[in-house]
Amino acid sequence: MSSCLFCRIVAAEIPAKVIYQDADVVAFEDINPQAPLHCLIIPRRHIATLNDMQVEDAAIVGTMQYRAAQIARERGYADGGFRTVINCNADAGQTVFHIHLHLLAGRILHWPPG
Ligand code: 5GP
Ligand code: ZN
Repeated sequence: MSSCLFCRIVAAEIPAKVIYQDADVVAFEDINPQAPLHCLIIPRRHIATLNDMQVEDAAIVGTMQYRAAQIARERGYADGGFRTVINCNADAGQTVFHIHLHLLAGRILHWPPG
């Protein structure tokens, strides 16, 4: 999807502060961080929203969660805690239509979210 912002980050056509990548996922710092650690973990493969997941996409979402936990641990947030979120569509505030897992840590995260 050449028009997709996050596909363009995957392709390195748009710069991002990449903190991890492998054959399946890329993790990079959010451009507008909402916590001391705020990064996005995305699949290399374009999936627009959680509504568009096929059963064969289930594993990649697990990989994204695993990678988020690894990054949180590496940054020293495993014990204190962290949050992962995937927003789906307008009511949840999704603005980029290539699924992305937010990883937030480093401050008290209130519940319920706004
Ligand atoms: P959403 O609201 O779709 O769940 O989250 C989209 C996230 O992508 C936002 O937190 C926003 O700050 C981030 N974002 C939007 N454009 C860019 C960009 O060009 N680069 C990076 N690194 N993050 C972006
Ligand atoms: Zn995409």
